[in-house]
Amino acid sequence: MAAKAEKVMVLGIDAPIVPRLVALAREGKLPALGRLLAEGVYAPNCLAPFPTITPPNWTTITTGAWPGTHGLTDFDGFEPGDPLDKTHQNFDSREVKAERLWEAAARAGKRTILVNYPVTWNANNPDGWRLGGNGLHINDIRLGVDRRLFNLNNLCQHFLLSTEPYPFANEVSFKRASDWEGVEHSPRALEAEVSVRPVKPATPMPPFTWHLLVDAAEGKGYDTVVVAKAKNKQGVYARLKVGEWSGHIYDTFPTEAGPKEAVFRMKLLELSPDASQFRLFVPGIGALHGWAEPAELEEEIKSAEGLPLVRPPFDAWVMEWIDAQTLVEANDLHNRWLADASHYLLTNKPWDLFFIHVHSPDGLYHAISADLEPTSTRSRELQAELTAAETALYQSVDRCLGRILEAADEKTLVFAVSDHGAKPKGRHFQVQEVLEAAGLLAYKPGEPGERRQIDWSRTQAAGQRTVHVYVNLKGRDPEGTVPPGEEYERVRERTIKALLEWNDPETGLKPVVLALKREDARVLGHYDERSGDIIYAVDPRFYEEHGIHLPTAKFGIGDLHSLFIMAGPGVKKGEVVERTVWLTDVVPTACYLADLPVPAQCEGSVVYQALEDPDARVKELQSLRRNVERLKRMVERPPMC
Ligand SMILES: [Zn+2]
Repeated sequence: MAAKAEKVMVLGIDAPIVPRLVALAREGKLPALGRLLAEGVYAPNCLAPFPTITPPNWTTITTGAWPGTHGLTDFDGFEPGDPLDKTHQNFDSREVKAERLWEAAARAGKRTILVNYPVTWNANNPDGWRLGGNGLHINDIRLGVDRRLFNLNNLCQHFLLSTEPYPFANEVSFKRASDWEGVEHSPRALEAEVSVRPVKPATPMPPFTWHLLVDAAEGKGYDTVVVAKAKNKQGVYARLKVGEWSGHIYDTFPTEAGPKEAVFRMKLLELSPDASQFRLFVPGIGALHGWAEPAELEEEIKSAEGLPLVRPPFDAWVMEWIDAQTLVEANDLHNRWLADASHYLLTNKPWDLFFIHVHSPDGLYHAISADLEPTSTRSRELQAELTAAETALYQSVDRCLGRILEAADEKTLVFAVSDHGAKPKGRHFQVQEVLEAAGLLAYKPGEPGERRQIDWSRTQAAGQRTVHVYVNLKGRDPEGTVPPGEEYERVRERTIKALLEWNDPETGLKPVVLALKREDARVLGHYDERSGDIIYAVDPRFYEEHGIHLPTAKFGIGDLHSLFIMAGPGVKKGEVVERTVWLTDVVPTACYLADLPVPAQCEGSVVYQALEDPDARVKELQSLRRNVERLKRMVERPPMC
């Protein structure tokens, strides 16, 4: 009888550039993924649904359904009939219109662990366990958050204390130290008081005051900082030399919703011998509560090294607050926490299905992929540093996955997948510019430098979210100008013509590679008015790292293909399967191999070519039927005596 999987693990990595990831794994630098490649099947032609973006595609991976079916048609959600500029971030599981694999599996009594998996906030997983799901990181809050705010944090995003005027840094100015109770220091010691304004807290919280004491502990230049919330022994958070991280610091912070317990760490990045150059970095303050279901888990999960982080500090690297090594270390704190939390749940709870999402490659590529290009004008030294950071970040992810895989046995079916790939940022493209030039979109008069507001009374079509254009339709849209019927069709045709004929003024290239009416976008898995009247895609030489590009797009070092590795009972060993695999295929393949009920709206198919014996189930059924017939004949036989 064919081997049967008893448990299923889905290991999600957000936005890896798959050929680079697989090359590192094959070189032996990523042992956990390397083992999966050696023991399983790799499909280099795995494609994500369009748009190549996060919430819809992680949802496809768990439903086996296309965006039009599960209802998440872009990073943000849009309710037809709402003003065309009213959208919200899609992280509430109740918006998903298709059954999830864990819901189907629960019908067979199976129990599921969800760790940091996007769009699982309020997930219907009553006999299971969930950590996070309301954003891309445990304390990253995006549920219903206005698109312009991007994300909020439970409690506070990363921040910098510095003597230099870095963008958005908290400025530090030292003076002679005095009145520290019980904290020994030399007469040369200097101090500073800094009022830190919390960055993007999900619940408003007042500024907090930190005290810094720098001293020359070794009798030469300044080399040590004491960071404290009060100028006494009890108030000391940490004592650090340059390059050192503090241990875990636990404290309670006041917020408008009452006091919140939190944990954080900090790193001293710079302290010059004369104390004129000082930089202290805090990669966020993460809440100890508010992210688990059931909530008791929050007391059970411990991590000696890791942190339940807020948004990782990729913009801190862009603003030159931190070096690439610190960027990787801060991400590693989160990946360690995810590993510890997952390991705890996998070894202490009676689970059948496990899903995790690790986000860090996505942020890394948004920050550095253009600088990784051999054609980048940045220095060779910086490029080497960034290439090393990319490898180190993948190694951090791989260590996290390796720790999780300790809980997998020979009866565990494992998928390593991604929601999309990534590529370096390309040339400028803005859909509203195309529509404005075609006379389809108009702005209200405004002052120079102001953010322009669309004048809906003079607008016939407008771009929305990543890949959608809506006709401003009378009777449907609150400020509609275009009558339904012939005029609507005329506007759609003018829009498609304008998109396809648009020339990049500098290169003469045509950025738009595809523009379809909604009914034709069924070939991309889009059907109803949650998708635009027109859907378009852009050449990978244009626009940002992913989203607006087709899932086959390649540009420079980048590649939008998704990751698909599968290993476990019934799966071929060490093979590359060249056929096209879609992310819709993960669920049906898991159901087929692990005898799970298929989610109600699943549209994918089994990846038969990845299986040791594609006919194993038929053979099993035939064998069982033969046995039943034998038993039937035996029972129906007249008595022998
Ligand atoms: Zn993503």
